[in-house]
Amino acid sequence: MQVADYNLLLDIDFEGLKFKGRVIIKLNEKQDVVLNSVGLDISNVSSGTRSFSFKQKGEDLIVETGPFDGTLQVDYAGSIPNSLAGIYSAPYDHTHIITTHFEAAQARRMFPCVDRPDVKAEFKLAVRISKDLDAISNMPVQSVDNDGEKKLVTFEKTPRMSTYLLYLGVGKFETQTAKLGTTDIILASTPGKAKLGKFAQDEARSVIQFFDSYYNLPYSLPKVHLIGVPEFAMGAMENWGAITFREVMLFVDARTSTKTKMRVSMGVAHELAHQWFGDLVTMKWWDDVWLNESFATFMAYKALNSIHPDWKIWNNFFNGEPKVEALAGALTRDCLINTHPIQVPVSSPDEIEQIFDAISYGKGAHVLQMLEAYIGEEAFRQGISRYLSAHAYSNATGADLWSALENTSGKPVREIMSRWVKQPGYPVVTASYGDGKLSLTQERFLISEGSETTIWPLPLVLELNGETRSILMEGAEKILDTKLKSLRINPDRTGFYLVHYLGLDDLVWASNLSPFDKWGIVFDSYLFLIAGKSTFNEYLKVLERFSKERETLPAGEVSDQLGLLYVLVPSEIMEISKAFHRVQLELLEGKNDKISLIARGKIACRLALVDEGYASTLGKGFTDYNRALPDMKQAIALAYARSTNDFDGLVKAYRQSNSDEDKVKFLSAMTSFTDPPLLQKTLEFALSGEVKRQDVIGVILAATGNPHTARVTWAWLQSNMEKIREMYSNTGALSTVFNTMIPILGVGRIQEVENFFRKHSIPEAESGIKAGLEKLRAYDRLVRNIMQK
Ligand SMILES: [Zn+2]
Repeated sequence: MQVADYNLLLDIDFEGLKFKGRVIIKLNEKQDVVLNSVGLDISNVSSGTRSFSFKQKGEDLIVETGPFDGTLQVDYAGSIPNSLAGIYSAPYDHTHIITTHFEAAQARRMFPCVDRPDVKAEFKLAVRISKDLDAISNMPVQSVDNDGEKKLVTFEKTPRMSTYLLYLGVGKFETQTAKLGTTDIILASTPGKAKLGKFAQDEARSVIQFFDSYYNLPYSLPKVHLIGVPEFAMGAMENWGAITFREVMLFVDARTSTKTKMRVSMGVAHELAHQWFGDLVTMKWWDDVWLNESFATFMAYKALNSIHPDWKIWNNFFNGEPKVEALAGALTRDCLINTHPIQVPVSSPDEIEQIFDAISYGKGAHVLQMLEAYIGEEAFRQGISRYLSAHAYSNATGADLWSALENTSGKPVREIMSRWVKQPGYPVVTASYGDGKLSLTQERFLISEGSETTIWPLPLVLELNGETRSILMEGAEKILDTKLKSLRINPDRTGFYLVHYLGLDDLVWASNLSPFDKWGIVFDSYLFLIAGKSTFNEYLKVLERFSKERETLPAGEVSDQLGLLYVLVPSEIMEISKAFHRVQLELLEGKNDKISLIARGKIACRLALVDEGYASTLGKGFTDYNRALPDMKQAIALAYARSTNDFDGLVKAYRQSNSDEDKVKFLSAMTSFTDPPLLQKTLEFALSGEVKRQDVIGVILAATGNPHTARVTWAWLQSNMEKIREMYSNTGALSTVFNTMIPILGVGRIQEVENFFRKHSIPEAESGIKAGLEKLRAYDRLVRNIMQK
């Protein structure tokens, strides 16, 4: 089917949370027209004076048109629920805005349409609203006309675009406009907050300039809105020209931590990267959604690295926020049998929503980094630029991109990439050395028992005695004749694979190791521990080398590992963690650069969990919380909770605060009570209606990290399952939650957890549940091994 355009009119009852709609679709179809429509009450389908019979089947609206070429009019009505997907109401201060989130398959909740990314069309949107309200959409307002007691706001027609990128916001908005050439960068918020968007707006200006030049293609719409949405399941969404953000991802003031500021910049850069990659050129089908996400991810780091070189933003690309983008997250997700290829066949909306995960974002982005390292930065940039120009306002596939990159680089990109995107998992390269021969073998790395014979075309980079060699390893084994004094494989960790050095520690540490290399060594050793490839004692020996580590990337990685091990085996890890974090805190003393500020906040949180004396001293700062250093606030709140058990005091602070960032910190602190009944009260508070729906997941995940209350958290989760499912329906969010929770809460009760998920079918989270159960078996084995040692 081909659709030329949609002419859409919505008459919105803002207070009553419902609307009447009329859409006129110009289309061409060889058989009966099938539109997508969910939750809409269709009253009439017609063309001119002719009415058609129609029926609703699942999410399809089937109209008995026969072969059709013309304009089809659908009259209908809909309601605006308190949900987080489709067209929904986002409450704040006893009122609300109406907003939309359509990715992946939710536009059909606002108007009947062909809700597929490859059926692009032009959209002409008009809304009839009360005179005191404003409306925002992808394009600028063309006209505002009086219409009885209401007004009619008509937007300019969009270029050809996909349905999932359409946006509509209605409510009382405050805006601030900045100019970049002829482009308006407009900050929009609920009243009183627009000034807090200045930082994001400035970032947006720099980022757009970067992409204009990198892609060699100017931003294509007359304006872009950055919109703060009071309730939002995602961090942000790239609707073309009308980007939506969770408020904490957009607003910055003097109280905002450095870490959160970086997240704001990262979100702005990511969504702006999509304006070209995703919006202007869109994947044909959701099986290539990784093209959108991995590119936006990789490009955002490139942009921020260029704009803020002092932020060392590539550190976050390895291990940082957002986790879904980091190499650590991708390697951890992809070492399971229950992973999926980067390019994955999907059809139902439930399947589609679940692939916005660490594979589509993180693995995709890191495989692109590997490709760029192999073909060179300039050939990569030119290939991207040509691909975007060739497919503008249209759709493309991965294969189109590989062809463009093969043309600009002259290297076998198609062959390499088609294998990397279709094969699940990744290899571990095992290196051994003897008699002047370096032996390298590759096999798939799994943390589960069993092995596989999959082989990758591996762009392998080695540094032998300080000299770099680049080879394409196409078989399972490679032998190199060499006399080794030092050895570095996968330098700076640009390749998506692990390295297992067999007895070669001295050669490795004789190399000039970068922070990325050191990160790789300690990260790999941790996965080897979980996989049962090395013992706990061998792992602890590796950690010893990092006991006084000054680089924040490897030191932060060790901290994270000790954090997770503390959750699994608290008594075995307590002292090790205490010693490591005390030294780290000393090393960071007096340092005030951005990286150190963030690192100190994290180290302080970890130490407060294992060091009662420290928690008690630090917790005293809670009485003067508002004047504390923003990056230390989380640690102070947590230390206070831990040392006082003052549930009511934290709830009071939560109620008095008007900062979303602080509220989340208080909630997180409240999940660290060691007393199970207090933890129970925290979880109940999360569902009391006082906490934003968007923040409930964070509370559940934080509670999972409390080893003293696992039984309570697991019991609570089971009895509130339906409520939580309802809250996050059509968002895909629960898949990630289960993937994280199951392996931790399930240790020691595998049978019970497996039985629960066997009895309760949760199709919208199936992928995360399967992965979580597999990881649970590995964690459970690890715990038993450590306890028996
Ligand atoms: Zn994205």
